[in-house]
Amino acid sequence: MSSFFDNIRRVTPYVPGEQPEGKVIKLNTNENPYPPAPAVGEILAATDADLLKKYPEADIGSLVRELSKTYGVKPSQVFVGVGSDDVIGMIFLSCFAGEKPIAFPDITYSFYDVWAELFRVPYRTIPLKEDYTIDVNDYDGDWGGVIIANPNAPTSIELPISDVEELVKRHPECIVVIDEAYVDFGGTSAMPLIEKYPNLLVTQTFSKSRSLAGMRIGFAVGNEAVIKAINDVKYSYNSYTLNRTAITAGVASLSDPEYFKKTCERVIRTREAARAELSKLGFSCPESKTNFLFATHESIPAEYIQKELKKRDIYVRYWNKPRINNRLRITIGTDEEMAALYAALKEIIASCR
Ligand code: PMP
Repeated sequence: MSSFFDNIRRVTPYVPGEQPEGKVIKLNTNENPYPPAPAVGEILAATDADLLKKYPEADIGSLVRELSKTYGVKPSQVFVGVGSDDVIGMIFLSCFAGEKPIAFPDITYSFYDVWAELFRVPYRTIPLKEDYTIDVNDYDGDWGGVIIANPNAPTSIELPISDVEELVKRHPECIVVIDEAYVDFGGTSAMPLIEKYPNLLVTQTFSKSRSLAGMRIGFAVGNEAVIKAINDVKYSYNSYTLNRTAITAGVASLSDPEYFKKTCERVIRTREAARAELSKLGFSCPESKTNFLFATHESIPAEYIQKELKKRDIYVRYWNKPRINNRLRITIGTDEEMAALYAALKEIIASCR
């Protein structure tokens, strides 16, 4: 006899980093250690709960318009979603709908293959070079789409903008998505290229550089007709994605570019100091254009260090996956959190001698 289970779709889900409660030093999910812009707190404090009885704007118009002003594009070139995860998921569903496989690096954001499986998009992974960099020549071929995180995660390495342009130029047959979740920490955005290349989509998020991971806001910028196609898919799935509070918080965040710039600069300064400090402790990390470092120690296995740090209530990210199983991804925290990390690492290293 058949079972109702036969009709249930079973998938292997994406595994997010741990979200421990309580007083821990959390350097495992690339959140920003600083609070969101003060205007966000003010808007939240002034929110009238009575407003919540009404649906939010289905087109997220007020936030779309502010994003269009901030980034110098037309509102019709902006798509907003519930974090860039939602935005990229919608892009997979709408723009990678052909028969040809899409391409992305073997080591990258581990949600890409999950969406591909979920939405039944055929895909190939293209190996990064030995030093974890991307060679755009490796992407030559006829694809149903290409997606690159730039800077890449978890490697932290940026593909130079000239190579990004080359990739987009070489693949007019498909949509090329540049996932710029970390670009505000010193990277160069491909957004200025969207006028020149209608097949280019750039995605960004409020989760990292704008300290709003808990609010869930992401967006894509690209060609008007492509943005409309993504919106049509969104309206065919869930019309009211962002809630009212998130929309007003997003607008408030964009109203303070000075605060945004200052916070990003602080993270970058701490990151550069951390890279030097970790190097003194026997670690090496590629040059990072993100809010994290991708560290390996000269003699102590990464997995051991991760476990020892956890015993001391310091969380960093480790993957037991080929090619990266001796690496730690360490999010940049405040200077105080980083000092606690160095002290713990010194203790762990000393205990191994
Ligand atoms: N892209 C990359 C490369 C990421 O690391 C993340 C964060 N996990 C995301 C997209 C999604 O971030 P969010 O949904 O918070 O915008």
